[in-house]
Amino acid sequence: MIRDTFARPLRNLRLSVTDRCNLRCAYCMPEEEYAWLPRADILTFEETARLVDVFADLGVDKVRLTGGEPLLRKDLAHLVKMIAAESRIRDLAITTNGILLGQEAQALRDAGIHRVTVSLDTLKPDRFQALTRRDSLTQVLEGIETVRAMSWPGLKLDTVVMRGVNDDELVDLVEFARRMSAEIRFIEYMDVGGATRWSMDKVVARAEILERLSERYGRIEDIVEESSAPADRFRLGDGLTFGVISSTTAPFCSSCDRSRLTADGQWLLCLYARTGMDLRKPLRDGASKPELIALLSSAWAARRDRGAEDRLLLTDRQPLIQITELKAKPHLEMHTRGG
Ligand code: SAM
Repeated sequence: MIRDTFARPLRNLRLSVTDRCNLRCAYCMPEEEYAWLPRADILTFEETARLVDVFADLGVDKVRLTGGEPLLRKDLAHLVKMIAAESRIRDLAITTNGILLGQEAQALRDAGIHRVTVSLDTLKPDRFQALTRRDSLTQVLEGIETVRAMSWPGLKLDTVVMRGVNDDELVDLVEFARRMSAEIRFIEYMDVGGATRWSMDKVVARAEILERLSERYGRIEDIVEESSAPADRFRLGDGLTFGVISSTTAPFCSSCDRSRLTADGQWLLCLYARTGMDLRKPLRDGASKPELIALLSSAWAARRDRGAEDRLLLTDRQPLIQITELKAKPHLEMHTRGG
């Protein structure tokens, strides 16, 4: 297994399969139009599977499909089948906004997806509309219900908590997760790519999330576990578990074993990285497997990124990138790099 300069292994690959999305969430992709990735640059399923095979050689055993909205990628189940055939990938998951999940869930499960995570920031239709600029909450809830009805284990709900936007719904979301047999994870609002209206005062920190929940549920117990997962997990008195991902106020850089591949084959070693390594060119120029392995291993061995921790040191923290720069450089966007 290969390790970087801080002895972090490469185990976790987030594969963005498209930069397109059918929502326009205020905290992620607020604009209607972007500089979309050229179609010819998007990796084919064969190219993606070839790279996954190389990553597996280097120690990757967890792959998460993301985007953009991954379910907008045509025939996604076919790609899932190809990755699932790689026995070294012991955890194959997908993060989706849930809109197309009702119709795709069975095909995804049959193709080999192990676990589904659905982003869900509110249960209120008018709030959903205001936050995402689309009227799709009903489909999202149907998608979640479809997964529940299939008794598909490992269902997670991800909620970005924003002050004054949805921080009054924490308990409702916990109770909804309970009904769906899902584990909810509250994510601190991050100052990544497209969060152009991000400011520190909109972040609800982990401590406050826990405080609000304990007002309703009483004592909350820490679940102590050895894991490189981003979420710290907790247990309520009645046994229900949930997670908090405190990437903004208490980042997990020291154990971060993840990297990201964009839909057009740029490899990013950190969510906050400004540049990535182009894997599409060597792939299309006919690089051999040993050549690709050498390329990836030397880049990982030199990895020094601790992006979220570096952000903590800033005194006047602003969004990572301003909208004008984003339009010129689509790879800096959250929806391009895959959240
Ligand atoms: N479209 C899919 C979805 O909605 O889940 C996958 C892509 S989305 C970029 C992946 C995750 O990134 C979502 O859970 C989303 O909530 C999270 N995300 C996007 N912008 C964020 C931000 N500014 N802070 C924290 N999480 C963010």
